[in-house]
Amino acid sequence: MTRASVPCRTLVPMVTETPPTTLVMPAREHILDRSPEALRALLEGWGEPGYRADQLSRAVFAHGATEFASIPGLPAALRARLEERFRIAPPEVLARVTSEDGATTKVLLDLGGGAAVEAVRMAYDPEDASSAGRARVTLCVSTQVGCAMGCTFCATGQQGFTRNLTTSEILAQVLHFVREADGDPSRRVTNVVFMGMGEPLANYAHTLEAVRWLVDERGLHLRQRGITISTVGLRSGIRRLVAEGLQVNLTISLHAPDDELRRELIPAAAGTTIDELVESAREYIAATGRRVTFAYALLDGVNDGEEQARRLASRVRGLQAHVNLIPYNPTAGEGLRRPTRERVRAFLRTLQSLGVNATVRIERGAAIAAACGQLRTDVERERASANAPRTSPRGEGFPEASARGFA
Ligand code: SAH
Ligand code: SF4
Repeated sequence: MTRASVPCRTLVPMVTETPPTTLVMPAREHILDRSPEALRALLEGWGEPGYRADQLSRAVFAHGATEFASIPGLPAALRARLEERFRIAPPEVLARVTSEDGATTKVLLDLGGGAAVEAVRMAYDPEDASSAGRARVTLCVSTQVGCAMGCTFCATGQQGFTRNLTTSEILAQVLHFVREADGDPSRRVTNVVFMGMGEPLANYAHTLEAVRWLVDERGLHLRQRGITISTVGLRSGIRRLVAEGLQVNLTISLHAPDDELRRELIPAAAGTTIDELVESAREYIAATGRRVTFAYALLDGVNDGEEQARRLASRVRGLQAHVNLIPYNPTAGEGLRRPTRERVRAFLRTLQSLGVNATVRIERGAAIAAACGQLRTDVERERASANAPRTSPRGEGFPEASARGFA
């Protein structure tokens, strides 16, 4: 697997005879890389009343503050001290695209040093067809730059792994859309799904710290049930999650009814069997009382046959589980195709006729919602080809070709 370069942001060092004289200041820490408790302890250590920490996090989460100077009521000395040590500035937006119907928006955020990640906003719940018409704003966020799992059908997997995101970088994606909502209650974020770039359980600590901020009343104060973590199936991570005692939803990406095919599609799955994942799901259900979802990306002629649906049903039947079918979203991957509507429907019917609770993921703005990693790939490719980027009718600096397939 080749590591993706990020030509749009690569800095070419200048060769000089004399070393540069300017001192490089260490990057200031983001306040959200501390937990609510740690932030409070720090400010109390500075002799500040504890409520100052809540004032800061409320300003960031509820009012979208991006600089300490805009937070009302902060004493000047404290503001200066915070500015010296910390930052709350958001990442720059490299690209932004919205689907024709306005229901789905995807942004590419610049994390510096050549790293960029995608986040998607959906004005509906892609996992819940019954939510149509209800006020739902679901954000799909990334947890890593690239991914080490190498799934053959996934744009992120094909980019290779660069690094884990920090807690504040995960939260920055949510905060971007909080600011875009600008206090409008109909655009308030209600759900966050960890289904963007990367494997959340391979960046366990930062993912969980982000979840804590999202559900904490000093943070975004979301319902725990409004959060979904999707994993390629890291059993040790699922076990840790069980021990957290949270009520978040778990999705396990299965994609095949037998181990041989699964290992072909997910090279990183080599050490794990489907039976073991079903066992992990059982443990999660027992501990949380929550239904587990199995994600299944449907690939034409690869894993979408009737016999495969039957085998899948036999493995998950009887569990308090749900199968979410995701018709493959074409990416840079070679030789894979999206099944026809009829084949998707036939696969769904077979599962349902065998007593499996199954749905097809809602497809609005599918090209941006389902194939996280694609925007980054497209922007990189576009900028790498020496031409100036074209702009799609509703996007900024976004290549037209990537907007195909929007609802
Ligand atoms: N790494 C985690 C979460 C990020 S991927 C995981 O794999 O679960 C989120 C979901 O999108 C996964 O279920 C993944 O299989 C699916 N996915 C990735 N690329 C896709 C594509 N091109 N078409 C359809 N689904 C895709
Ligand atoms: Fe990583 Fe998930 Fe993509 Fe697989 S599907 S490469 S685990 S992001």
